[in-house]
Order: sequence, then C-alpha cells, then structure tokens
Amino acid sequence: MSFDPSQGTVELAPSRDERFVAPNLGDWAQAWRSFSWEAARRGLEGLPGGGLNIAHEAVDRHLARRGGHTAMRFLSATGARRDVSYAELLSLTSRFADALATLGVARGDAVFCLTGRVPELYVAALGTLRRGAVFCPLFSAFGPEPVRARLSLGKGVALVTTPALYERKVRPIRAALPALRHVLLVREAGDGAPLPEGTLDLNALLARASTVRAVEATRPEDPALLHFTSGTTGTPKGALHCHRAVLQHHVTGALALDLHPDDVFWCTADPGWVTGTSYGIVSPLTHGATLLVDEAEFDGERWYRLLQEEAVTVWYTAPTAVRMLMKLGDELPRQFDLSRLRFIASVGEPLNPEAVTWSARVLGRTIHDNWWQTETGGIMIANFRSMAVRPGSMGKPMPGVEAGLVTRLPDGSVKEVTAPDTVGELALRPGWPSMFVAYLNEPARYQKCFAGGWYLTGDLARKDADGYYWFVGRSDDVIKSSGHLIGPFEVESVLLEHPAVAEAAVIGVPDPMAGELVKAFVSLKPGMAADAALEKALLAHARKRLGVAVAPKLLAIVPALPRTRSGKLMRRLLKARELGLPEGDLSTLESPA
Ligand code: ATP
Ligand code: MG
Repeated sequence: MSFDPSQGTVELAPSRDERFVAPNLGDWAQAWRSFSWEAARRGLEGLPGGGLNIAHEAVDRHLARRGGHTAMRFLSATGARRDVSYAELLSLTSRFADALATLGVARGDAVFCLTGRVPELYVAALGTLRRGAVFCPLFSAFGPEPVRARLSLGKGVALVTTPALYERKVRPIRAALPALRHVLLVREAGDGAPLPEGTLDLNALLARASTVRAVEATRPEDPALLHFTSGTTGTPKGALHCHRAVLQHHVTGALALDLHPDDVFWCTADPGWVTGTSYGIVSPLTHGATLLVDEAEFDGERWYRLLQEEAVTVWYTAPTAVRMLMKLGDELPRQFDLSRLRFIASVGEPLNPEAVTWSARVLGRTIHDNWWQTETGGIMIANFRSMAVRPGSMGKPMPGVEAGLVTRLPDGSVKEVTAPDTVGELALRPGWPSMFVAYLNEPARYQKCFAGGWYLTGDLARKDADGYYWFVGRSDDVIKSSGHLIGPFEVESVLLEHPAVAEAAVIGVPDPMAGELVKAFVSLKPGMAADAALEKALLAHARKRLGVAVAPKLLAIVPALPRTRSGKLMRRLLKARELGLPEGDLSTLESPA
C-alpha cells in the first residue's frame, strides 16, 4: 500500500492522572506472555462440579458482599430513573427463570426479546440464562419480516415484547411461527386493555413467580446466547455462544475496558447488537460495577449531560456516535464537567485518527478503539489504558488471544504474513472462550471460517513493527485500482480530516482501464454548502494526502450515508445502487438513506 495512515499522526501517551485508580493491565507484553485462561478462570466462581452459568457470575456471586450495590441504573426516554441493586436483580431474574420453568420453557430452548432498552429486557436476558435457556435479543426497530426470519431460524419458543410492537410486528407473522408457544407482553402498570389472544402479561407472571429459583447447573459448553451479525456484508448470520463466554467478558472487561467494581459504566450499544449484550449486560455485572442503561436514542447534549450527572467513569461507544458528537462542535462538551470520566473505548467500525485526536483535545481523554466481531463474542484486539495510542490503530491482541495475518491460497490453505506493514487477512487462533460454536443452520459456512489452525475473520489488516494492528478494510470492500490494493478506511480517514466533512464512505466502481475506480460519498457538517467548488476541493485534498493512485477519482456529496442499526457503513448498498444491482438484505438498515 502506498499510503501509511500512521504517518503524520502523533502517538498519544497514556494519561497518568493521579485521581484515578491504577490500570488493571500494567505492561502489555508482560501480561500477554504470562496470561493463561486457566488462571483467569479463578476470577470467576463457577458452579459445583465444573459448571458455569453467565447469570450466576453476573448476579449471584455478588450477593454476599455487594447485594445492596446498584447493579443497573435505568434512565427512561421520558426522564424516569430506576436503580436496581444486585439483590433485587437476583430476585427479579429468579422470578423470570421461575416463570419460564412454569411455562415449560426448558434448558436449551430459545427465548427472544423484542423491546427497547427497558428493565424487562435485562431481566429477561439474565433470567433466561439463569433458566439455562438461550437468549436472543432483537433490535426493536426490526420490521415483521426480519423478526420472523430470526425467530424462525432460532426456533424461538418464547418472545418478550411490548403490546405495540406485538401488534405491528409479531401478530402479522405469528401464524408462520409454529415453534413460538409464548408471547410475554411488557405492559405499562395499570394497563387495563384486554390482552391480545395468545399473549400473557409478563409482569403479572413475574408477580406470581418464586424469587427462589436456583440457577440451572449449565456446563461451560452449553449454548447461552444467540446473536445475529450486523448484515453489513450480506444476510445476517446467527452466531451461537456458550456459557464459557463469560470468562472472556470478564477478562476483557478488566483488561481492555479497565473495569473496577466501583465504576459507573455506560455502554451505548443496544443489546440487539452483540456489544450491547457482552458489554451492555454481562461484562460490567461480572465486575460488580454499576451499569447505566439509557433508553433514549442518540442526542449529543443529553449524552454529555448524562456523562456528567451520572458520573460515568468508563464509557464504551461507537465511532459513528463519536463522529456525530464531533459534528455538534467543540463548544457543547465544554459546558459539561467530564472530570469523572476515566476511560473511553469504542468499537464497531474503524475509528479515524481525527476522531481520536479530537477526543483527546476536546473531551480531555483519548478514545481507545478495540476490534472484535459477533463471531468472536468479546474484545480481541484493543488499545489498553496503559499503552500509548497510535490514532487509527486498533491496538494489540488481548492477553489470551493469538492474532495473526494470513493470505488464502488457491488450494484452500493459508500462509502466514510475517513481514511488518504487510496486509493480510486478520486471523485468530481458536481457543478463546467466547468463540462462536455455530452459524445457525449453516454448518458449511462455519467450517469455511477455519483453515490452517486459524479462524479467518474476513477483515484485512496490517501489523506495524511494534505490534500495533491497523485495520485496512473488510475483504469484500477492498478496492483494486490499477494494480493498487486500496482499503476504504485510509481514504475515508483522509476525507474526514477536511473541516467540511462529517461522514465518508468509499467504494470501487468498475472501470475498463483501471479495473476499479475509487468513488467517495461524503456528507457534510451542518452549514456547509454542497457545490462543485467543494467537490473539487475535497478531491484535491485527498490527492494531496493520498497521491493520485489512491485518491478518489469520483466524489458525490449526499445528505446521509446508509448505515446498519449498529452504526456500520453499508458500502455494499452504495455499490449496489451505483451499479443498479439488487440491494440485498436490508433488514438491518438504520433508515432509508
Ligand atoms: P455481517 O457479518 O453480517 O456482514 P458485520 O461484520 O458488520 O456484519 P458485526 O459482527 O456486528 O457484523 O461487526 C463486526 C465487524 O465490524 C468486524 O468484522 C469489522 O469489519 C468491523 N469492526 C468492528 N470493530 C472494528 C474496529 N475497531 N475497527 C475496524 N473495524 C471494526
Ligand atoms: Mg461480519
């Protein structure tokens, strides 16, 4: 590759702020060398006879010492606030597990949830795990067909939802779901409307259920969580995870997110996306921390206020959200006291260097990007608190995780890429606890993810001489133009440096001479006028920074870019539209853009 995004960016040294507790991970190299999963397992309690259950690790084991500590703080969209202690969470989730047992929902059955971020979602998640059943959260914005497809694939026997969502999204497809035996509705207190036929009132069921329901004696290898991928590159896949994943959630919470028991932790992701479950439910609770849950959607001012008023200490968010905050300007955050915030992390998409330096300058804290996927179940590569951040890099492998770069050979085998700064497909050595165990109904696809003793991620990256990983692009998105291999991220990062640009996405469009030409789509910051002069200026800026071989030849200014509900750019949709091809699965598209 001709362009090195690490050039020209400064390394940001770790902050040595004495007000804060020491980082959990001191020296990365030493921690990576000495780590063992067996030893880490001692950080969990486990069940007699080698059993393991996520709900037990997240809730029960804190009872003796932290029963009165706030486990979850719920902020409703209308401003209501509800604190739930670990002791209350135990009783609520026991009731949920007991209610499932009474309904005949057995160990291994799938329980789905289609609600906003309301307390019942969290009670259902942990209560389902307590029962030994498999939990599958869905985005509440899904339409009837994506809901049907997922419930059908996952053979959901029970569904937790609200009366309004039931009417609009479930009733029309209910007849097509023979396995779905129970629909449990989350109703407002005092809702006197008759229950729709074939549904039950969840809170009435919970009121009748027992608060003493022992956690099911699950084994580490028993299935626990089903997550659908974001659908960025095609039809979403259902990735299945086991109870042993809790070890990864716990260890990464400590080492990559620097969680301590007295933290107030806010993960902005919805549980409909894997981050919102692994880190928006399980991980912080295994540390006995306080988890903040905000029901409302993105609102920059509300977010800054929430960071201040709730005294958030660790914040896990997404690059898209950071760029939306940047779009609101530098003055807004200065009106808030963010001094309690110790650590910011992000995941989901490449974090452009500009966003990292903006955060350091304006929020007073560096953003620590980390990389993982639905399939990996937990953080794999991260910028750790004690490590200098190289803006644009996703950091170094987690202790307990061996990462590498490989090229696939025509005979199906793989060859390791060892030279520094050379692009290869990011690969991981199987053996970490939260690795997915299946793609539902797609065994052949699952098998194809493994070769030469590696799990192949489908993402391209490179590693610099000091061991930092740099994301290049998804293998589907990489552009081949006149013999150059161009990763969209480097081109997008450069466009995002321009003061007029809010968002950028880059694709390859076929060209008889070059093979593919780089085409950029950008949306502008508020108040910027889209005209031919700006288009020219943007192309010139990109040419100057990237050189003619890599810079876009074509550029379009658009009002907004298509994204998944988890905030990822859908380059495949831009490409399909550009080429007049079928648009493919749009179930996870945020809103028509
Ligand atoms: P699908 O597999 O259905 O196409 P998806 O890959 O977007 O969707 P997820 O599992 O939610 O589904 O996302 C994981 C992907 O997100 C990664 O493979 C990677 O491409 C991208 N990603 C996550 N974190 C980062 C990061 N820090 N830097 C760059 N890319 C990231
Ligand atoms: Mg994927």
